[in-house]
Amino acid sequence: SFHRILKEEIVQGEHLGRGTRTNIYAGILKLKSEDDDDMGGYSQEVKVVLKVLGSGHRDISLAFFETASMMRQVSHKHIALLYGVCVRHQENIMVEEFVQYGPLDLFMRRQSTPLTTAWKFQVAKQLASALSYLEDKKLVHGYVCSKNILVARDGLDGEGGPFIKLSDPGIPITVLSREECVDRIPWIAPECVQDTANLSIAADKWGFGTTLWEICYNGEIPLKDKKLTEKERFYAAQCQLATPDCEELAKLMTHCMTYDPRQRLFFRAIVRDIDVVEKQNPSIQPVPMLEVD
Ligand code: ATP
Ligand code: MG
Repeated sequence: SFHRILKEEIVQGEHLGRGTRTNIYAGILKLKSEDDDDMGGYSQEVKVVLKVLGSGHRDISLAFFETASMMRQVSHKHIALLYGVCVRHQENIMVEEFVQYGPLDLFMRRQSTPLTTAWKFQVAKQLASALSYLEDKKLVHGYVCSKNILVARDGLDGEGGPFIKLSDPGIPITVLSREECVDRIPWIAPECVQDTANLSIAADKWGFGTTLWEICYNGEIPLKDKKLTEKERFYAAQCQLATPDCEELAKLMTHCMTYDPRQRLFFRAIVRDIDVVEKQNPSIQPVPMLEVD
């Protein structure tokens, strides 16, 4: 169940990068407004990203549509909007809202002045609220990582703070190769490396933990220089990532990254914990937006 977009309604722009089996382009989506008649043109244009699954990957188009249909079921301020899916010749295209400052990992690595704890805390809180919403709807994201979080407002001048949106997970891990899954260590949950059929909401909690680590370390890549066999061994030996200095986020992280999926915190509890920490520390509370007259 997803909205079909006609190929005439999109314009493809510059190439932004590659996802897993996809190519990502900037683009324009032409929309009809309510007072346009059927004969008239399009009166509205929005900036979008086009995630194109090429004709060589038609074997996984069903899995691609699964992701699209999950994204179409959600409506949350901290989740990127999926406009719909377009079939253009033999290509399948996800049409997603363009988010100005791009992925969180690159954004964090670009900063020359250190991001404050308050900033990081707001990002963690917003991500937890999006995942708590998915948890309530019993929807699994499947690839929670800072690359899949987009920065809509940088909040660097303090005003209002940052504003993030969780992006789509891309191709589901159930159709990825063993190597591709192992390469996703330490984001992919250990039980999913054993068997991708174990993918569940609990796996998103593990991914959330790894994402907290990335946030604490300013977008650094965890297990960066490790080869695939070393990554496999990391999970086999039930190792843990280094504990970050940021004490409060570190505690949440360890509660999410237990090898037993049943012992991971509910997102609802995580949101509550974050609220408590925030109330106890005035220095990390969000900066209110200034009223402009
Ligand atoms: P994956 O399965 O690996 O998540 P993907 O198709 O989601 O694949 P990404 O790696 O998340 O692709 O995105 C590739 C690049 O496209 C990003 O680094 C970013 O520059 C850009 N990008 C993706 N989504 C958006 C968006 N909504 N707004 C702006 N830029 C985006
Ligand atoms: Mg992505």
